Amino acid sequence: MPEPTIFGKILDREIPCHSVYEDDHVLAFLDVNPLSPGHTLVIPKERVAFLHELSDDQSAAIGRVLPRIARAVLAATGATDYNLLQNNGAGAHQAVFHVHFHIIPKLGKRGLGVGWKSTSLEAGETEELVVKIRAQL
Ligand code: 5GP
Repeated sequence: MPEPTIFGKILDREIPCHSVYEDDHVLAFLDVNPLSPGHTLVIPKERVAFLHELSDDQSAAIGRVLPRIARAVLAATGATDYNLLQNNGAGAHQAVFHVHFHIIPKLGKRGLGVGWKSTSLEAGETEELVVKIRAQL
């Protein structure tokens, strides 16, 4: 058995959290080092590291409650803007290897800072990617 992640330990009630929502498949709690007040983490109870490993059932369960939890966070904080962030892999800033969604209210300067360095693709690359991705689905 792999060593449980910190979120596994939270699910096992080995370490505490400030829980705001729980059902049979999902737990949501406040981030211990928030980017803004109300920064909430929403996790499936299934213990996998990455989004693409999550079962369809757990994905559906988390998708069903994300908007409801976001509405509650907005109402509680007075924020109107927020980011939903979901990191996969150390190179993509994932630090805890248990799937999680961040709900991060934008409150003035507090919240997620985004560096969005967009690029463009070579001629033909888009069509090639469409063919390759569609073939995998
Ligand atoms: P990641 O970079 O993996 O997407 O984000 C992990 C998040 O988990 C970070 O925002 C970090 O503050 C939060 N975090 C790490 N350890 C704990 C903990 O023990 N309790 C809570 N509530 N949040 C944690």
